[in-house]
Amino acid sequence: MTTFAIGVDLGGTNLRIAAVDGAGKMLGKITTSTEVARGRDLVIDEMCGAIETIVDKLSATGVLAGIGIGVPGIIEMQTGTLRDSPNLPGWHNYPVRDEIERRLKTTVVLENDANVAALGEKWLGAATAVDDMIMLTLGTGVGGGIVLGGKIWHGMTGMAGEPGHINVEPNGHPCNCGSRGCLEQIASATAVRRMASEAILAGTAPHMAKAMQESAEFTAKVIYELAMQGDAPAQEIFQRVGRALGTALADLVNIFNIPMYVIGGGVASAWDAFAPSMMETLRKNSFVYRATAPPENAWTGDMNGGPPRFTVISQAVLGSDAGLIGAARLPMLSSHPPRI
Ligand SMILES: [Zn+2]
Repeated sequence: MTTFAIGVDLGGTNLRIAAVDGAGKMLGKITTSTEVARGRDLVIDEMCGAIETIVDKLSATGVLAGIGIGVPGIIEMQTGTLRDSPNLPGWHNYPVRDEIERRLKTTVVLENDANVAALGEKWLGAATAVDDMIMLTLGTGVGGGIVLGGKIWHGMTGMAGEPGHINVEPNGHPCNCGSRGCLEQIASATAVRRMASEAILAGTAPHMAKAMQESAEFTAKVIYELAMQGDAPAQEIFQRVGRALGTALADLVNIFNIPMYVIGGGVASAWDAFAPSMMETLRKNSFVYRATAPPENAWTGDMNGGPPRFTVISQAVLGSDAGLIGAARLPMLSSHPPRI
């Protein structure tokens, strides 16, 4: 009998569930069309139903170790309660962990979705060779997770790992958090579209204006494609993204001096457009980075089991599966905060 765990990615738009064994092999995956907007009880019903379906299928050959759930929002780790989530209205102070444990009679671990993505990349993705890593997820917003000694670093109340709100432009665009010029206001997909709209309104970006009129969805990807075709205003947007990331990374590298920083999420696909200015700013702003930068063309993925000696900035490799894989990893670790 193999032991497996269930990972749940409770995203803002739909619900994904996977069964993963202890070696990281994905044994089954369900993506439901459950619209999270349709309400909490419906989502919980469908989640439990889908988990039961996948567990039943595997019960002849495997034993369930538990369920890990990645949720967007602020989680009270000790009680497994979702305190607040901008993407899940109606879930305020909802005891997600206890409710699912009551229904399915197995161990449930609740965790922030950006933290589980970091754990996924640590376990099976870009950061398997190191014990300590930080992930930045560039999506609708900018999320992040800190993994130290192979475990998610939660801080005092579970709110650690919010690099999206590192200030990178002191008088910049206002942020929902109350500050201005946060990384999220420059390096998220939302911010890329906003900066493009600003350039279009200013009349300085004729190609972007044309693309906006022609494409049904004016996405960060469309702006990236223009940048790669040589459109200067589109290139300037991604250079600004790169400078913002470089500034934030320089802070993180100076503070943590850990070997790996992984950048994932949709906007990370625009790596070619933002990485040069990101690396230039990081090198300029961080003396710790300059002292630990890998030599040109160094192969840094294989540390031969020895201690890592370089600071590596890498693209994530698991894509949207990082959260699912990291969530499934949760019940396999014994590192959760004490339960009450
Ligand atoms: Zn902010």
